[in-house]
Amino acid sequence: MLHRFFDLKSENVSKSSTPVTCIRQTLEWMSVLTATITAHGRTPFSLSSFSTGTAKTSRKTYSGYLSQILLMLVLCAGVLLLYGQSSVWAFMRADVNQSSQSVENSSVYPRRRKRGNTKHRKDEAQDKAASYARFSSSLQRDDSIERQQEKCRQKAISNGHSISHDLEYTDKAVSGTKLKREGLDRLLEEASDGKFNVLYLYSLSRLARESVITMPLLKKLVHTYKVRCICVMEGIDTEVTGWEVIASIFSVIHEQFIKDLSESVHDGQELALRQGYSVGDWCFGYGSEPVPGTEQTRSGRNSKPRKVYVINEEHAEWVSKIYTWYVDEGYSIGQIVRMLNQQKAPKDHRSTTDDWHHNLVVGILSNRKYIGIWPWGECQNDRDPETGKLTQEIRPEEESEKWTRERPDLRIVDEHTFRKAQEKLDANSEKWEQHRKAKGRLKGSSSETNGRRKVRLLHGLLKCAKCGNPFYNTGRRFQCRDAKRGICNVITSVQIKDVEKMIVDRIGEIILNDAVWFDYALKETKRCYHEYESRVPAAIREKERALSKVNQKIERLLDIVEEGDPPQDLNSRLQRRNEERKALQEELTELRRECIHDGEAPDAAWLKERLLNLYEDLQKTSPSANHALRSLIDGDIILEEIDIPLRKRKALRGAFCISAHSVSCELKNFAPDRDGSEHTKQISIDFIQSSRTDLQRETAKKMYDAGEPEKNIAVALKVGRTRVTTLLHEAFALLGLKKPDGRQRRWQLDDKHQKTLLHQSVAEKVMERFDRKMTYGKIAKELEIDRNVVTESVKYWHEQRGLPVPDGRSRRKNL
Ligand SMILES: [Zn+2]
Repeated sequence: MLHRFFDLKSENVSKSSTPVTCIRQTLEWMSVLTATITAHGRTPFSLSSFSTGTAKTSRKTYSGYLSQILLMLVLCAGVLLLYGQSSVWAFMRADVNQSSQSVENSSVYPRRRKRGNTKHRKDEAQDKAASYARFSSSLQRDDSIERQQEKCRQKAISNGHSISHDLEYTDKAVSGTKLKREGLDRLLEEASDGKFNVLYLYSLSRLARESVITMPLLKKLVHTYKVRCICVMEGIDTEVTGWEVIASIFSVIHEQFIKDLSESVHDGQELALRQGYSVGDWCFGYGSEPVPGTEQTRSGRNSKPRKVYVINEEHAEWVSKIYTWYVDEGYSIGQIVRMLNQQKAPKDHRSTTDDWHHNLVVGILSNRKYIGIWPWGECQNDRDPETGKLTQEIRPEEESEKWTRERPDLRIVDEHTFRKAQEKLDANSEKWEQHRKAKGRLKGSSSETNGRRKVRLLHGLLKCAKCGNPFYNTGRRFQCRDAKRGICNVITSVQIKDVEKMIVDRIGEIILNDAVWFDYALKETKRCYHEYESRVPAAIREKERALSKVNQKIERLLDIVEEGDPPQDLNSRLQRRNEERKALQEELTELRRECIHDGEAPDAAWLKERLLNLYEDLQKTSPSANHALRSLIDGDIILEEIDIPLRKRKALRGAFCISAHSVSCELKNFAPDRDGSEHTKQISIDFIQSSRTDLQRETAKKMYDAGEPEKNIAVALKVGRTRVTTLLHEAFALLGLKKPDGRQRRWQLDDKHQKTLLHQSVAEKVMERFDRKMTYGKIAKELEIDRNVVTESVKYWHEQRGLPVPDGRSRRKNL
């Protein structure tokens, strides 16, 4: 129908010759056209060429097309005014007729414009043809790309072109309102490289749906990259004069289409909303289910059934849990986040991150949907036409209010709990208000809000070996950042003061006492020094020469002034030279400052003194200490969790390197270069913190293993017997063992003890009889003890007094 419309126009115009009559006639057509539309109830030309999909025929769409046509007419009138010649119409008639027919019939274009200033126009056979296809998920199916490409191929063949496979550019499920598209970006890049010079598009709308993008893009392709563009559907060929007019008309139509579409989508959603169906705005805790039998009420090819909201029981349970934790059990949001991550709670279908985080929980705690109030359309998208970027804007409440639904059947949380949660959230946000910036982001810690900044020797230097995240400063301790959210399982933390002291002490040991390391550092410093010596003074000499040259030039200029014949541009020349001199002088000062050495090569004493200074620096809790430490160690301090025997808690082991090279660079202010012989010292420190219980447990186990009875351990530790038993039980459990039966051990120990005791207690009685010259046998018989015990007793008595133990045989002889 389009060509009929143009025919009508052009016939009339061909009779006229002045612009004034043109406009008058244009106005006449407009009235005719409006009459036609109202009579037919349709647009006067077939829309099938660009309405790909399910454009709904609603009242609004008609008015939309009406406005399009009016716009087209204004454009046409503009063109007429510009040229004011019937010859314009002559080509319009020819071209438009041709182009509209060209959809079915690929005729040769009658008037081909010579491209640019190309002197040697290549044959069509030598042309490299490409095609671009795109579909946006909401409207089209996957096979539409193939269909578009097929159309392009057909058209190309009829033009004597062939499109090679690698020049078929596509963008899948990307809106034409977006400027940044992967396939399009590649197309433009390769067009600028000259990989092709003819581009086939199924429709102009594939290129863009926004007229402010379409035309510049098309013009860039045609004029900058010298690519001939052919739109199959609209019959646009950029080699035909006047293509811009048709292209701009169509670009406006395509843009209007997307606007109408979004409006009809909105209308459809509003209708679904009123009927109580799902519009896909359900959040965590809910889902949607199709209602069988609702397919018929929808139009379109693949109509899907309507859906209704349902409660997802599993997720809903987590929602109630979160509310209970927060309101009834008084957990903080951070603790809830940790628990959710640790218990591997499922997440919202829209969630972009794997883990739970603070804002998600706050979002759940403040979502009114959980008490059955379902708002809709509180925000609306605002698209930047030039970039296609979307921003959300809050819709006025009186506008979105009418869409709010009351759904008591979807209630998960009772109102009382919800209100309590809001109160707590409000109190919380009030508390943190002063720590937030204007846009609500936290300001971050400052020296006023906490004491963290004061301790910053290790700032940004500790990393978790497991997850690679930095250890952060909780105030007094360092802990893995992800452990806070319950994602990393390195939950061990260390006291800042201890870590700092241990690291500084160990570094001190090395840089002050390690002779081998010192030698390396000295060698490295000397190497750097010599390398620097040879480099920097040469640069200084060069700059000095340049400076003296500039000075000479300035003097010469001044001489000319004194001679009384100043050239016209003297001032500007003088100024230029002065600027040059200033720049050179600055560079020189910079170079000289860099060259801080005092003329002497560094020696051992010099290095020793510097290292001592460095060590003193490290002991300060200032940013300079942090800087000094960074210069010393290579990379980060990697913290790893380790088990310690007999300890319930794990400890952290820190590993880092001290590089002799970076130390010497730092000390001498050299630019670090990494080609020299590198000597780094691997250091590993176990940050073990011992509590009293830990030490007690260790001592107890040690004494136990040495065979001491538990009561002796109790005395040594100054604790009760039960405490000792507990400690020993713990010690065995930590070793993965079970503490042996106490009675059995006691019996073994007691046996030994009793024997000891027996010979000791009877010693006096034995010695009394011993002195009365009784035989060992008689003594044993009289005292009713074993003969061996008698021997022991005698031995014991003499040993106790430091006397020689009598020999039994010689005694017997005396008797
Ligand atoms: Zn970690």
